[in-house]
Amino acid sequence: MQVFYATQFVLPLPPGHRFPMAKYQLLRDRLADELPGIRLAQALPASDGELALAHTPGYIQAISDGSVDPRIQREIGFPWSPAMAERARRSVGATISACRAAFQDGVAANIAGGTHHAYADKGGGFCVFNDAAVASRLMQAEWGRQRAKPLRVAIVDLDVHQGNGTARIFHGDPTVFTLSLHGQKNFPFRKEPSDLDVDLPDGCGDDEYLSALEGALDELDRRFDPGLVIYLAGADPHEGDRLGRLKLTWDGLEARDRRVFDWAWQRGVPLAFAMAGGYGTRIEDTVQVQVNTFRVAVQYWRRWQNRAR
Ligand SMILES: [Zn+2]
Repeated sequence: MQVFYATQFVLPLPPGHRFPMAKYQLLRDRLADELPGIRLAQALPASDGELALAHTPGYIQAISDGSVDPRIQREIGFPWSPAMAERARRSVGATISACRAAFQDGVAANIAGGTHHAYADKGGGFCVFNDAAVASRLMQAEWGRQRAKPLRVAIVDLDVHQGNGTARIFHGDPTVFTLSLHGQKNFPFRKEPSDLDVDLPDGCGDDEYLSALEGALDELDRRFDPGLVIYLAGADPHEGDRLGRLKLTWDGLEARDRRVFDWAWQRGVPLAFAMAGGYGTRIEDTVQVQVNTFRVAVQYWRRWQNRAR
């Protein structure tokens, strides 16, 4: 299974910064050690032209040269540096590569990404550019060169925070379906309407979550027929998360992942996934949730390879 990363994902932050940057390296090390079916490859940075499919030229320019409005820079939550701009481009590039690989192999991943709080003209909540939005539009453009019907993309966002940037970017676009399951009382406090939003109460556990997910996937099925799924497999609904406010167990999160991979597999739809958020009190717990996601993903990737033969 092809998995994309960039060394730039480990961005130097000031001491005491609350973003757990070390998780990317820990995840990469564990995937290399424990899941031999995974092929790690370095992502290329997204170009200005690719970013412009979902972002305004002014915002792309400001991130590139460091002239971002200080208020927006504060909302992003990372200090600007050339490395920060490069990391943001590579993170989008990794989701683009994962989508292309998913069309080949059925399932593929970005070891970072899921930066769903980024709008067309501003970032926020540790998100600079919106990888799923850029990749969706680029896949549609590449697809459209050969076929009569447009590519329809479902973005299944199970990070615990609402995908506000993604919802806004695709508002009114019938070719991209945005689904977000999130904590009702959690960040962002001003939510944007997705095609389907499911609000979950604080303390929500496995049963309640999984039945909400089941209902959401049923509704997605009734309303949309995707040719590609982009799955944001946030680790932050886990009960050990500092910011999540939900109470999903290891087993509950694994059942969640299995349900999403299975939904796409049953319909023969390629699926690319990104890691999105995860802020475990113990960083190892966040990484464990993510390793479990990859373990399930590799099982579905194998099924695709067996079917292809
Ligand atoms: Zn999150």
